[in-house]
Amino acid sequence: MILVTGGAGYIGSHVNKLLNNSGYETIVLDNLSKGHKYAVKWGELVNADLSETDKVKEIFQNNDIEAVMHFAAFSSVAESVEEPEKYFKNNYENTLNLLKVMKEFRVRKFIFSSTASLYGIPKSIPISEDNELKPINPYGESKLMVENLLKDESDFGGLKYVSLRYFNAAGADLDCEIGEDHNPETHLIPLVLDAALGRRGSISIFGDDYSTPDGTCIRDYIHVNDLADAHLKALKYLEEPFNDSNIFNLGNGNGFSVKEVIAACKKVTDIDFDVKIEGRRPGDPDILIADSKKAEEILKWKPQITELEDIVESAWNWHKKIHV
Ligand code: UDP
Repeated sequence: MILVTGGAGYIGSHVNKLLNNSGYETIVLDNLSKGHKYAVKWGELVNADLSETDKVKEIFQNNDIEAVMHFAAFSSVAESVEEPEKYFKNNYENTLNLLKVMKEFRVRKFIFSSTASLYGIPKSIPISEDNELKPINPYGESKLMVENLLKDESDFGGLKYVSLRYFNAAGADLDCEIGEDHNPETHLIPLVLDAALGRRGSISIFGDDYSTPDGTCIRDYIHVNDLADAHLKALKYLEEPFNDSNIFNLGNGNGFSVKEVIAACKKVTDIDFDVKIEGRRPGDPDILIADSKKAEEILKWKPQITELEDIVESAWNWHKKIHV
């Protein structure tokens, strides 16, 4: 049995589906503050918060938990700047609680949702795992604190973990059963698709004066199914007794500018909409592109949906389903 915290959320729900389709049984722990009940179509859902230690312990008492995949976290950079304490409490303190319970019940395998935000403004592109860790916002800082804790628990406390540093998660389940559904939405692709559907009047480009060929920020968009596949491979990796704790970047290795994403959305939807240029959003680095060679070599992972238009198309199919 695998415990999936945050399994009602965007990435967690895709991993939960894949685990169940790959022969694993799961329990999803989610407080449904951001996630959706409808997204837990596989396994059992326990509606609880990680700060409710008794409820967390009950899960471990009543089930034979082999490993924990930990997605439950707040993930909005803007919100983290407004309310840092919320991020340290939910992302760090609640993870500490979870790890304590795991230790009590001798569950020693842990897969962590980490982020490219750990790198802050990177010194070199593409970004490999040994790049300096220098987050520039409380969200990234809260995730770095967890990674530091995991390292110590692994070095001195017998924990075996894999930390997966995601670049820009995008797209949706190809069967359209689940997908991205944030409220409020802040991510580029669903916002552009909202503009295509007329759910917003236009899309704003946050800055066209960056040091990139077209002046707009470049990001590495990785399909959520490819992220899910990496989690499955990370679990298999931890199931091998001689494998050590490890950290992997997960990106598709291709960068796309904001303008390229908008063009791809116009092409896939075949709808024209207004695009406005606005000022820069604070804290946005010019370019983030992953070097994921380590995951390719050690986990034998390779992203399958790498064309921007294919990523956008899967997001579009889902977007139409929930919003039309
Ligand atoms: N972005 C934009 N307009 C929007 C939302 C995002 O220009 O309405 C830009 C943002 O500044 C960044 C890129 O799109 O350069 C990706 O942003 P997103 O919030 O999707 O992901 P992040 O890179 O912040 O994790």
